[in-house]
Amino acid sequence: MMVDESRSCGNCGNPVSEPWRLCQACRKDYARQIHRLRLNMQQLHALAMREYKLSGHEVGAHGHGTAPTPVNIAAWDLEVEAEAAISSIAATVQVWGDWHHILRRLTTVLPRLCQSPYAVDDYRDLVRLNERIGRRVERRKVKPFAGRCPNCGREVEADKDEHGMVCQCGHWVNLDSLRADTRERWQQLHTTQTPAGAAKWVSRQTGVRVTRQDVKNWLHRGKVHASQLEGGYYEFPIGELVTQANRKSQ
Ligand SMILES: [Zn+2]
Ligand SMILES: [Zn+2]
Repeated sequence: MMVDESRSCGNCGNPVSEPWRLCQACRKDYARQIHRLRLNMQQLHALAMREYKLSGHEVGAHGHGTAPTPVNIAAWDLEVEAEAAISSIAATVQVWGDWHHILRRLTTVLPRLCQSPYAVDDYRDLVRLNERIGRRVERRKVKPFAGRCPNCGREVEADKDEHGMVCQCGHWVNLDSLRADTRERWQQLHTTQTPAGAAKWVSRQTGVRVTRQDVKNWLHRGKVHASQLEGGYYEFPIGELVTQANRKSQ
């Protein structure tokens, strides 16, 4: 395999070797996204069908008067649209069929997908699909704060193993560099809190459960250097709080 130092990942800019168009981190995420899309599509399909079963009418039944909507139209519509998008990704590597079949096959042809000239666009389309379907089917869970979208300033929340995502404004966010920027900014910032307030704050920022007693322990052991103010308040260095919280989660 030829290694060309000037080659970089079309998605995130990491160095890549021939014949890849996407770096190792993006390829790993691609596999994860395909897996997630399978689960999302299954749930979306169930959602489209649930109302169908509840209504007791078949699709296209020749109902008289005002027949109830036989399917969850919004879910059905999204499923059809998603299937078209999935098919067009699969077509670049000559895989055909319905989405059930394609999504099973995509994992095995992933190396070819990541070498195709369309690799970056296909990958991003797939991530966008997951975002859209995910919003419709997933129960909302709280994810850690990653930073602010460089384009629109919205708060971006993402799990630690997520590598990239599409912000609601449509901007592609490289989560690794966003997290690094945020960390750097945090090193210079302080927050004025009681230990209980600091615990609450850092839990929300990192997704790690931190108690008031944790924060007190960090202060006593000199892991966090906070200057004490009046009324039980401290000036906490944000970077140290986040570092300790992340250490606790490991
Ligand atoms: Zn990459
Ligand atoms: Zn944005």
